[in-house]
Amino acid sequence: MISGEKYRERLKKLRPNVYQQGRYIDRFDRTILGGINVMATTYDFATDPEFGGIGTVSSHLTGEKVNRFTHIHQSVEDLLNKQKMTRIYAQEVGGCIQRCMGIDGLNALSIATYDADQKHGTEYNKRFLNYLKKVQAEDLCLVCAQTDAKGNRPWRPGKQQDPDLYLRVVEKRADGIIVNGAKAHNSASVYADEIIALPTRNMMSDEKDWAVAFAIPADAEGITLINAAFHPPQRKKLDAPHAHIGFSHSLTIFDHVFVPWERVFLCGETEQAGKAALYFALFHRHSYTGCKAALSEVVTGATALAAEYNGIDTAGHVRHKLAEMIQIVDLIYAAGIAAAINATRADSGTYVPDSNYVNAGRMLAGESIYSEYESLAAIAGGLAATLPSEEDFYDEKIGKYLEKYIMRNPKIAAEDQHRAFRLFQDMMTSTWGGHKLIDALHGGGSPVIEKVAIYRDHDIEHSKNIAKKLAGIPCEACTKGLFRGKYGWY
Ligand SMILES: Cc1cc2nc3c(=O)[nH]c(=O)nc-3n(C[C@H](O)[C@H](O)[C@H](O)COP(=O)(O)OP(=O)(O)OC[C@H]3O[C@@H](n4cnc5c(N)ncnc54)[C@H](O)[C@@H]3O)c2cc1C
Repeated sequence: MISGEKYRERLKKLRPNVYQQGRYIDRFDRTILGGINVMATTYDFATDPEFGGIGTVSSHLTGEKVNRFTHIHQSVEDLLNKQKMTRIYAQEVGGCIQRCMGIDGLNALSIATYDADQKHGTEYNKRFLNYLKKVQAEDLCLVCAQTDAKGNRPWRPGKQQDPDLYLRVVEKRADGIIVNGAKAHNSASVYADEIIALPTRNMMSDEKDWAVAFAIPADAEGITLINAAFHPPQRKKLDAPHAHIGFSHSLTIFDHVFVPWERVFLCGETEQAGKAALYFALFHRHSYTGCKAALSEVVTGATALAAEYNGIDTAGHVRHKLAEMIQIVDLIYAAGIAAAINATRADSGTYVPDSNYVNAGRMLAGESIYSEYESLAAIAGGLAATLPSEEDFYDEKIGKYLEKYIMRNPKIAAEDQHRAFRLFQDMMTSTWGGHKLIDALHGGGSPVIEKVAIYRDHDIEHSKNIAKKLAGIPCEACTKGLFRGKYGWY
């Protein structure tokens, strides 16, 4: 395992292929630093006794202690610990911990490569495990590029006017493949060591060129990261941990990129491409039951603070809103626990969280985020939008007025009122805050996709049989008198 400092040093050696606002920029550009700070914590937290070892685990390949973000889940306990780690870390940094795309991509590949080998006699799993050893030994920072540009949404990859709208193989060579296309919304790519590319969706038998999965250094020849960087407004005087975070997302261009065979994990196996897409989404949404529980708790905490600082914390409507918010936090997290406890073991040995519970938790998180922010806005009041600038609070002439008139609950010092409302303003009115809302809604898959999965994976006939039995309508399952649902007798 390496430290956050070593991670930063390694980043410095990457080829400059980050493009932002009309020019190539340094990875350590001011706008990107907040994201690097967050990612570095995933290295430092792992060895920090404060976190009780939740961030480390024994590798099932080597027995060595590795960072949990590089681990393949070997048990229910592993899934529970991943979820717990994600929540604790995300709460600590006040938002997305950013390294889960890598672990989720690895876990998806551990299953898809194994299945492909069983079916096609290929050697993807061997290649994958070799790659995994490297990832664990070097503690690589991985991100996952799954979402394709996708073009006209209802059209399949092969039916787009431009076939590159889904990343595809354009040439197979003796030493590897050449891929062309782009991946959208590729989070944290500009401060990752490597990118795992996975298919976005299931593939039909005539879509072999798009059924491709591989790992590639983030600065490989032909890759350009067209980046959008986000961070809370920077502070001049009123320093706070929230001012040191950030997040980046790139449109990752693959312009005829060469991938050597040892890094190719699927190439034309359409059935397993679909599995890889599905499993990544599943593992990633399980991660969301950790990080979104944390994010919702951050918003809940901010709302409770706003209530206290406004002197309205005992008001009935405030407690009602807070109770609703707490319920959302608990249900999101509970869904992840239920998904882990009801996990199944794939043939590869990887533990897979239960799809229904994962999707139910992720959907709740996505659909609740705007109402959670609405509660914060309602209880914080207008000052969260109209707070004068930091400079004015420290201005010799007018600072005294701002200190005087920001006062509400007399038990709270003016500076703490200022700090709290600066946080609320950053959370709700900045480009950072706006981007976090859309991240919470769409990241890991839009709620409508989770609804599709929830309906697909629920045994609706079983539900109907319950109603039939109660109505006295004869049915085979009903006559047995017992209902065996997916999770056992009940
Ligand atoms: C901040 C952020 C970070 C992200 N990070 C990553 C990442 O690191 N890696 C990664 O791979 N992805 C990432 N994503 C992508 C995320 O998974 C997608 O945003 C999500 O799956 C939705 O895809 P989309 O954005 O292309 O939306 P679209 O697919 O364009 O969806 C827009 C709307 O169209 C609807 N729609 C789409 N297709 C159809 C259709 N065929 N018929 C009818 N309706 C349709 C959708 O339901 C939705 O309502 C990130 C997204 C965000 C916002």
